[in-house]
Amino acid sequence: MIHAPRGIKDRVPPEEDQFLSLVSIAERYLQQAGFKKVGLPIFESSSLFTRSIGVETDIVEKEMYLFEDKGGEHFALRPEGTASLLRLAIQHHLIEPARITRLSYQGPMFRHERPQAGRLRQFHQVGAEILGSITPQDNIDLLVVIDSLARKLNLPGTTLFINNMGCAQCRPVFRKALVEYLSNNQSGLCTTCQKRTGTNPLRVLDCKVPDCQPIIEKAPSIIDFLCEISRSHYEEVCSGLRNLSIPFTVNHRLVRGLDYYTETTFEFVSNALGSQSTWAAGGQYDGLIGQLEGPDVSGAGFAIGVERLALLAEKAGTLPAPPTYSQDVSLLPLGENAIPLVQRLIRDSREAGISATGIFGATKIKQGFKQAERDGSRFLLIVGEDEIAKQELLLKDLLTSEQISLPLFPLTRLIEHIRTVRNQEKVSPVF
Ligand SMILES: [Zn+2]
Ligand SMILES: [Zn+2]
Repeated sequence: MIHAPRGIKDRVPPEEDQFLSLVSIAERYLQQAGFKKVGLPIFESSSLFTRSIGVETDIVEKEMYLFEDKGGEHFALRPEGTASLLRLAIQHHLIEPARITRLSYQGPMFRHERPQAGRLRQFHQVGAEILGSITPQDNIDLLVVIDSLARKLNLPGTTLFINNMGCAQCRPVFRKALVEYLSNNQSGLCTTCQKRTGTNPLRVLDCKVPDCQPIIEKAPSIIDFLCEISRSHYEEVCSGLRNLSIPFTVNHRLVRGLDYYTETTFEFVSNALGSQSTWAAGGQYDGLIGQLEGPDVSGAGFAIGVERLALLAEKAGTLPAPPTYSQDVSLLPLGENAIPLVQRLIRDSREAGISATGIFGATKIKQGFKQAERDGSRFLLIVGEDEIAKQELLLKDLLTSEQISLPLFPLTRLIEHIRTVRNQEKVSPVF
């Protein structure tokens, strides 16, 4: 038997409905915040990611799914959405330097990581980016959207960590001081950190190896190196969050795994899933759009990991519940004469917005009940010789066990009845 690849999570009914409902809830929050949806391709030229995310990052070094197509071109399954979205926005001239453009996306991302709890090789993200003349207010706005969603879903154990990564002026000064400090303390660092000291020293701050911690804790802090502009940006973000009563913790070690961040970076982390897990993250990027040959403006954005969001919502009991029934009616014809009638009823019901399937293989009522249950139907409609002779339909409500007779003609009587029951309950089936 062929199984799904490692690190892939299949979603079976009704899980997929719940998952998509959660995606729509997140999308609704983005829509309310003015983000317009774009459709991003699943794969892009691999150079897009090496140029934007950075060559010395985990994603580009180890995690990208790369392939060469029959024409010899090199592609990568997208490992994240920002680079793709910027490529699209630049290509279609959606960015206007003096204006703000707000775009959002959703879909699967791919990273060849070691599969472990809550970490998948294909995972789903909902993300948003604000492009143009970005102010600290735009960073606050992103945080407001995620915070509102977190409160709506009552997500347990969530902390917002924020940091400021500095800008093109002050970051190099900090970087130099950090490299100097790390170079003087090489013997206490793991081999990865030793290597990164020369290639991507900020990532050393991210290291989780216990032996590295004493040295990292005493490392210079970016906040002490911020220039006037970055410092006021940082303070404005903090005071905006206080004004909105959004709790946050400053974490000077929060550098994110990607090269392109400047000024604000942030992570929403929950401890409710066993270990600390980040379910939403993002920040500002000043040079990236120009680097991808777009206008010289900034951007800021975030991505939400939907699988982790689902686990947290499930824990909180706020994951959209599967409907009590997933289909309106199953129709059971008993005898040759009933088939043409049932065929018409199925088509007319569907066209009237009622979900319906026929049970054509069954010869006994008991089989019909079993199949209707399997269909997830609210009603079972039985049409046999008796019913045709009496010109009536026998409708069984599988939820209440009630049984009612409806006149056979007009056929719309059945549709009206099912609609009425559905509206009374205000539970609409997923289809
Ligand atoms: Zn600065
Ligand atoms: Zn280390």
